[in-house]
Amino acid sequence: MPKITIKPEDRWFSKCVREAADWTCECCGKKYEENSSALHASHYFSRRHKAIRYCPDNVFAHCFGCHQKLGGNPDDFHKWMVNKVGEAMLEILREKRNDIGLAKTINKNKKDVARHYREEYKRIKAVRDAGAVGFIDIIEY
Ligand SMILES: [Zn+2]
Repeated sequence: MPKITIKPEDRWFSKCVREAADWTCECCGKKYEENSSALHASHYFSRRHKAIRYCPDNVFAHCFGCHQKLGGNPDDFHKWMVNKVGEAMLEILREKRNDIGLAKTINKNKKDVARHYREEYKRIKAVRDAGAVGFIDIIEY
């Protein structure tokens, strides 16, 4: 079987998203074991949009079931998203999505993106280990 390699920038960003949510599905509220592969980093605007692929406002910790359900029902995902981040943030994300300059910058600096989210993961984890409960904000690259 071919080995699936996840790029470091994707791996560290995904860990940030899930640790920030305390390994809890942001849709159904079910809590998972740390590093569980059953909890995903779920993109609202697809990851093919490089400009917002690593944008914390576009990515959420969703369990396999919720990821499938929302991913398969764009109208439900839209409603969930409006409730979660609001219409104004959705509009900002739409604009950022089309920012070709930003997409190019991110593409050119993948190592920096990976480094940023590796450090950010360590910071969030330290805050968590110090006793923080609930969602911890992620500092965007
Ligand atoms: Zn869920």
